[in-house]
Amino acid sequence: MLYTPSIARLVEELSKLPGIGPKTAQRLAFHLLKVPPEDARSLAEAIVEAREKVTFCSRCFNFAQGEICEFCADARRDPTLVCVVERPQDIVAVERTGEFRGLYHVLGGAISPIDGIGPEELRVRELLERVRKDGVREVIIATNPRVEGEATAMYLANLLKPLGVRATRIASGLPVGGDLEYADEVTLGRALKGRLEL
Ligand SMILES: [Zn+2]
Repeated sequence: MLYTPSIARLVEELSKLPGIGPKTAQRLAFHLLKVPPEDARSLAEAIVEAREKVTFCSRCFNFAQGEICEFCADARRDPTLVCVVERPQDIVAVERTGEFRGLYHVLGGAISPIDGIGPEELRVRELLERVRKDGVREVIIATNPRVEGEATAMYLANLLKPLGVRATRIASGLPVGGDLEYADEVTLGRALKGRLEL
């Protein structure tokens, strides 16, 4: 036994977290044994509270505390403009731009046959229902600029257009400071297609 049973348990639990290897888990555990007991309790309670109180928004499937999320509850936002993202953390990225005043729809991932994820595993049906019910005029598809995200965007656009709703895709260019040489083909293809007049 390297540790006492309680330390061993703490190290084991911490090492289950993403990006935390055994050494980091040990370092965190030893750190927690040095902090004031009330700080350790506060951390433990924050984990339990978040896990118990945070659910999904019944409208857009973002994280929420209560029936709907803060965005869906905000009357100043435009409900006829919907930005589709893969995960709740993508909303944070879009919000940081300060460019968007509509609502969101979280798919829960992207279509990926290799991983066994088809449209049925995502909240596609719920999106189409929203578009029909809420008088949505434009859906901005902001899935990640990877193969899966592109396939999902095409799939959604084909479903949305017959409903008479405008389907748009975020324009994603090459990373600033990047070399053409190192750009993946999807990004470069998009950058070419989305070229502007100079
Ligand atoms: Zn919501």
